[in-house]
Amino acid sequence: MSDIAENLRQVYQQIKQAAAAAERPEDSVRLLAVSKTKAAQAIREAHACGQRDFGENYLQEAIAKIEQLQDLDLCWHFIGSLQSNKTRQVAEHFAWLHTLERLKIAERLSQQRPAQLPPLQVCIQVNIDEQASKSGCGADEASGLAQKVARLPRLKLRGLMAIPAAGNGATAFAQLRDLKMQIAREHDLDLDTLSMGMSADMNQAIAAGASIVRVGSAIFGKRGN
Ligand SMILES: *Cc1c(COP(=O)(O)O)cnc(C)c1O
Repeated sequence: MSDIAENLRQVYQQIKQAAAAAERPEDSVRLLAVSKTKAAQAIREAHACGQRDFGENYLQEAIAKIEQLQDLDLCWHFIGSLQSNKTRQVAEHFAWLHTLERLKIAERLSQQRPAQLPPLQVCIQVNIDEQASKSGCGADEASGLAQKVARLPRLKLRGLMAIPAAGNGATAFAQLRDLKMQIAREHDLDLDTLSMGMSADMNQAIAAGASIVRVGSAIFGKRGN
C-alpha cells in the first residue's frame, strides 16, 4: 500500500472512532482531504482509495490541478483566503467555499456563479477565538452576515468554519457550534455544516460536532520539506 492509501485508511479509522466516542453516526463527519502544495498524482492516489472531497488554498495551483484531474469525479473546496479580484475563479471552478468573511465577496460570487452549476456551497469563516493575525469575521458579525448571505440566489449558506489556535480547540469548537445554533434559530436558517478540525485536533472537533474535518498532513505528509 502507498503511504497515502495507508494514511487515509488510518484517518478514516480515526474519524470512525472519534464519531463513535461522541455517539455520533460515522457518516455525520465528512473528510475533506487538504491537498495544497501536493501534486495532482497524490490526489489521484487518494481518489483511488475512495476519497472525493479535496481542499485547496492557492487559486493558481488549484486551478491547474482541477484541469489536470478533469477525468475524475472530484468535489473541490476552496479553503484559502479570497480577495475580491479572484472571486470569479472560485465561482467557476469550485463546489464549496469555506472562507467567506465579507458580504462584498459573497455578492460577487453570487453574481459570477455560472448558471449551469448548482449554487456555490459556502461557510462563513469566524475568528472564533479572536486571534489578532487570523482571518474570519468577528463572532459578533457572523449573524448579520449570515442573514444577508442566505438571501443571495446563487449561494447556499451551509454553516460556519473556524481555524482556532493550537491549544484553543476544545473551547473554540464548542463556541462555533453554539454560534451556529444561535444563528440558525435567529434567522430560521437550515445550517447543517461545521467545518472545523485539522490533522492535529480532529478528534476534539468531532467531539464538539464537526461535520467536515479538513485534514492535510495526516494524509499527504508534511508540507514544504
Ligand atoms: C492547511 C489547512 C488545513 C490542513 O492542515 P493540516 O494540519 O495539514 O491537517 C486545514 N484547513 C485549512 C484552512 C488549511 O489551510
